[in-house]
Amino acid sequence: MSLVILGSTGSVGEQAIDVAENLKINISGLCCQRDIAKLESQARKLNPKAIAVGDDKLYLSLKNSLFDKNIKIYSGEDGICEMIADLNADIALNAISGIAGLRPTLAAIENNYNIALANKESLVAGGRLVMENAKSRGVKILPVDSEHSAIFQCINIANPESVSRLILTASGGPFFGKKIEDTVDITPAQALNHPTWKMGRRITIDSSTLINKGFEVIEAAYLFNISAENIEVVIHRESIIHSMVEYIDNACIAQLSVPDMRLCINYALTYPKRHKGMTSRLNLAEIGRLSFFEPDYINFPLLGLAYKVLNRSDNARIALNAADEIAVELFLNNKIKYNNIAEIVCEVVEAISENNYNNYLEIAEADSAAREEAKQIADKYF
Ligand code: MG
Repeated sequence: MSLVILGSTGSVGEQAIDVAENLKINISGLCCQRDIAKLESQARKLNPKAIAVGDDKLYLSLKNSLFDKNIKIYSGEDGICEMIADLNADIALNAISGIAGLRPTLAAIENNYNIALANKESLVAGGRLVMENAKSRGVKILPVDSEHSAIFQCINIANPESVSRLILTASGGPFFGKKIEDTVDITPAQALNHPTWKMGRRITIDSSTLINKGFEVIEAAYLFNISAENIEVVIHRESIIHSMVEYIDNACIAQLSVPDMRLCINYALTYPKRHKGMTSRLNLAEIGRLSFFEPDYINFPLLGLAYKVLNRSDNARIALNAADEIAVELFLNNKIKYNNIAEIVCEVVEAISENNYNNYLEIAEADSAAREEAKQIADKYF
């Protein structure tokens, strides 16, 4: 089996390399957006056939740094897609961050790769298109996100009518129990301090506002073809149960493990088999107790907003993601206050018109338009 890791220099990408090496899977391609120093060292260690850098301007320095190596180098969004086509590997693990991950997902499907999917935007912004294309090509979308991996491990795909409900667990983030008015002075450093998971910057902020859970509700709806009404979220502070599937007889099947993405990556790369992984064993007696709470939809309004956009159009889902990406960036750069993130996202999504899209270009255009809208609305919060 040959594997291409897209977004190899990020947190999930690096863990994917560790897991693939542990499984002795041949890595034929890597790509990153900008971190060419790390990409170079990964390329020297793994000797892939090809690598790509998303930012065109970095092509020459990457090429020069690897002058002594026989590795084909591509650049730009087109280059990433060309590399996918040329390598013709079996599976692509997509851990690219942001909307930039959507086109490579579509390219990999077009070239008959199975997709181990960690890029959220592929489903939040492009869910309908991605699932339709995957179905028509007969390729598998294997979830890497811990909640969807858990559901994937618990669900009986041969008997979909027996499933009554998906229950996604959420850690609740660092501000669990806080009221909106108590969040005004939260600093980026406080918001970046997640209680149970070590992740990238944007997803850590997104976990603290619960919009990440909202994105996951949308992803689950597409991945498992289930309506918003049948997806529930429960706060589970310890992050030991990663999600559950409830059946029509009210039996509820849960997946438990220590919080470690390498288990999810391991399962996606070895499915339907299981293979010895790198994750440590669960010691329930040491954990002692597991706690559960209702989500607070009033003080964390972005979770409820995500449910609403699931029943709206592609444009509303694209705007939800685009506005959040803009608002989080502004917050991390100390331009807006923490509570403004939710205000900006709600305002953008409420104002956006209903449209559906049937190809990547239309989605990309809608994404840029939503970003412009978000920047304008955010201006008044400066
Ligand atoms: Mg998750």
